[in-house]
Amino acid sequence: MQDQVMSLQQRGIKAEYLGSTQTNQSVSFNAEKGFFDVLYMTPEKACSLSKRFWTNLLEAGICLLAVDEAHCISEWGHDFRKEYKQLHLLHDVLLNVPFVALTATATEKVRNDIVCSLMLRGPQITLGSFDRTNLFYGVKLCNRSGSFLDELVSEVQKYTVNAGSTIIYCTTIKDTEQIHELLGNAGIEAGLYHGKMGSKAREESHRSFIRDETRVMVATIAFGMGIDKPDVRCVIHYGCPKSLESYYQESGRCGRDGLPSICWLYYSRGDFAKADFYCSEAQCENQRKAIMESFMAAQKYCALGTCRRNFLLEYFGEKSASACGNCDNCTGPKRERDLSRESFLLLSCIKLCGGNFGLNMPIDVLRGSHGKRITKNNFDKLPMHGLGKDNSSNWWKALGGLLLANGFLSETIRDSFRFISVSPKGVQFLCTANTAQQKPLMLAMTTEMIEEEADSSQSQIGNHQSITSLDLYSFTEVETKIYNMLLDTRMKIAKDNGTAPYAICGDQTIIKITKTRPSTQARLANIDGVNQHLVAKHGSMILETISRLSQELNLKFDSMGPTVHIQSSSQKELQHSSQRKPAAAKIEAWKMWQNDGLSFGEIANWSGRAAPIKEQTVISYVLEAARDGCEVNWVRFCEEIGLSVDIASQIGTAISKVGARDRLKPIKEELPENVTYDMIKAFLTMEELGLSVKQTLTATSSDEQPELTGNMEQHHRRVESPPKKIQKVHEHGLASTNVPEATEDAMMQWVRSRDGVTLEDTIGYFGGSKKDLVVDLLDSLEGDFLVFKKNGLYKAM
Ligand SMILES: [Zn+2]
Repeated sequence: MQDQVMSLQQRGIKAEYLGSTQTNQSVSFNAEKGFFDVLYMTPEKACSLSKRFWTNLLEAGICLLAVDEAHCISEWGHDFRKEYKQLHLLHDVLLNVPFVALTATATEKVRNDIVCSLMLRGPQITLGSFDRTNLFYGVKLCNRSGSFLDELVSEVQKYTVNAGSTIIYCTTIKDTEQIHELLGNAGIEAGLYHGKMGSKAREESHRSFIRDETRVMVATIAFGMGIDKPDVRCVIHYGCPKSLESYYQESGRCGRDGLPSICWLYYSRGDFAKADFYCSEAQCENQRKAIMESFMAAQKYCALGTCRRNFLLEYFGEKSASACGNCDNCTGPKRERDLSRESFLLLSCIKLCGGNFGLNMPIDVLRGSHGKRITKNNFDKLPMHGLGKDNSSNWWKALGGLLLANGFLSETIRDSFRFISVSPKGVQFLCTANTAQQKPLMLAMTTEMIEEEADSSQSQIGNHQSITSLDLYSFTEVETKIYNMLLDTRMKIAKDNGTAPYAICGDQTIIKITKTRPSTQARLANIDGVNQHLVAKHGSMILETISRLSQELNLKFDSMGPTVHIQSSSQKELQHSSQRKPAAAKIEAWKMWQNDGLSFGEIANWSGRAAPIKEQTVISYVLEAARDGCEVNWVRFCEEIGLSVDIASQIGTAISKVGARDRLKPIKEELPENVTYDMIKAFLTMEELGLSVKQTLTATSSDEQPELTGNMEQHHRRVESPPKKIQKVHEHGLASTNVPEATEDAMMQWVRSRDGVTLEDTIGYFGGSKKDLVVDLLDSLEGDFLVFKKNGLYKAM
């Protein structure tokens, strides 16, 4: 509650809260008078306030009552609180005030309960999706060894380097302490949070994480209830969670601002033996069963070889059409292969073992063990004994997990022991195996199966190339510098104001400011996510940072439109997988040319590189990027390399003379000296992309050109000469010498000279004619946040 109030206050919204921790006595008094735009209170408080308070507030004006975390109303919800049951009483005082109930997790049963309990009449029920598309989901199998822990540390380091916040959830307090110490040893400052800490220490830990003073929080699941930090970039679970509900909720604290963020789950096989531990919370048989089922679903999620997001969505009852392209299984190496033979071996072995064991026994049989339990049961006489020696027992366990997830096996629990048996679907498979009707059994393998098959000697815990969040914003090197400086500026502002950085403005806004580099307050105000309050209070400090750095780094101001294209991690992944280094250089050159408007020469000699590169190389990079599907402003490109319609037609003739286009030299030899290789390459690339040089260069109106391609050019023009605003009131230029000319400057001067001016005064001041033009001028100044209107008076910002 306090966090949310703090956040709203920083955005210039009058917000306060009423509750047991509120020490300021005047809040209640002012609240009653309708002084606040948003007033928070606990349900306990709402029910204990006097009728007088509510009638006074009603009189002062209240337009909505919102019940947050509304699932707490229902006994079927996972967090029932009886105070919520009383909230309907407020209907009696707050006549005709609309109610809204909000929750992130509500089954149909819970939804109905909310409607009944709050006595909502004919409510509009809106259901959102569980799909958080900006989150990347990944799972790694680990063995809790030293080398694994080293990897965990370097994973966390990746995010902290780029100033991202990370939460690491551990299943036990012991684990939190171990990981916390480990991070400390590696020089990563991390907070610690668990139930055995004193409330003061916990509060301090929480506060310091919220304010970005510590970037990493190692915690048990006790941490995070009510946490509203929008810019957590990574949530790591160390240990298999007890249910997918809790996993979804905890991992969901990541990326609330909508920016690409990452959820990793590290599990070890030992975690699966924790069922007993979780079941100990159960108070009856049914509850025990429910806990067990939830835990088994979480295990299936771990063992999955197919799209993780789809599995999660289906678990929550949402249908999904295709693989998401933003989870480790979707972006990893090709995983599917025919596993008929191995599946047949494992299924028939489980069947012959009689279904009285878990997975270990049949796997030991397949691996040819002569252990006591095996010989005692005569399992060494089974036909498949030893036939599965080629694969490790972990490989077979992973296959077992796949067959379970795909319904060929089923698992039952008796007295906390897990028994594996062949399901009807599995029996069907066994019956048709080796017959003509049997189709290959294509299964998506898990990372560890792939790694074992690839015989990777230095077995990584996952071969998935993880990505740091900054990679995702497609920043150039210099932009990264500006971004980091802006983060520092935001931190400083937050410290000076005793608040959290995200309460000043979100990461997404900082990214847009980095990309746009506004030069004036008006341009800053135009950026999505920047409000008047931010401009007025902190605008000059932000602009100062931008101005200093842009000059230092030789970057243009007002570089790009406020639309920032943020790549989804899957797109980035694809780039990662193909030729990492050259691709990066290529994309960087392309961005400097296309987005930053630098010339080929400037990019070739850019001081940020260790040594200059050839201009031709830069040109090839941009052409390659175009072939890869990046947008290119062809008009500017042709102009810059000197490719005219005339030269293009000469190149066309030369190509048809040579009769081939795979070698450039013969084409070049057919052409005059002044036609360069770059021109020929550009011509060929454009042809490849279905573009004609002639059409591109002769297109006059913007709708003949794709909008995006033309954008840059239009934008450059706009920056060099801003569109003229209405300058004069007197159309015929007969301004009398006594009457001031109505320009933006004159208007500002006029408004500043008075403590508020009316429209009539202003029209009079500027000569009394053309009222519409004066209004337009004032409107445009208002739009630029230079003036504002209050109670019919125009005032300067
Ligand atoms: Zn996926």
